[in-house]
Amino acid sequence: MGVIHDYERAPITEEDFIAYLKAKGVKGECEACGSNSWSVSADNEMNYTLGLPMVSLVNIEELTRGGINMLATMCNNCSNTRLFWRFKVAEWKSKQAAVGGEVE
Ligand SMILES: [Zn+2]
Repeated sequence: MGVIHDYERAPITEEDFIAYLKAKGVKGECEACGSNSWSVSADNEMNYTLGLPMVSLVNIEELTRGGINMLATMCNNCSNTRLFWRFKVAEWKSKQAAVGGEVE
């Protein structure tokens, strides 16, 4: 894995994640059922986040170290789950903080 930036270690709150989704124009309507009611994940106070394991295709039995950190939105009606790469949310947040305003 490559260099880990400080902003990747900073917690992402539910408010940060919702601001990111709005800035990116993510549609509020569930593509599976049409509901507009979602639960949104964020890093909790222990600074854990959802990780997808990475598996080496060369040695399929072995999990590689780390994996990919994700944030999720879950439909409150049908439980359809959308995953967003946490890195991009963290990067967006750090750029927004740097310019002190809106970043698309
Ligand atoms: Zn749904």
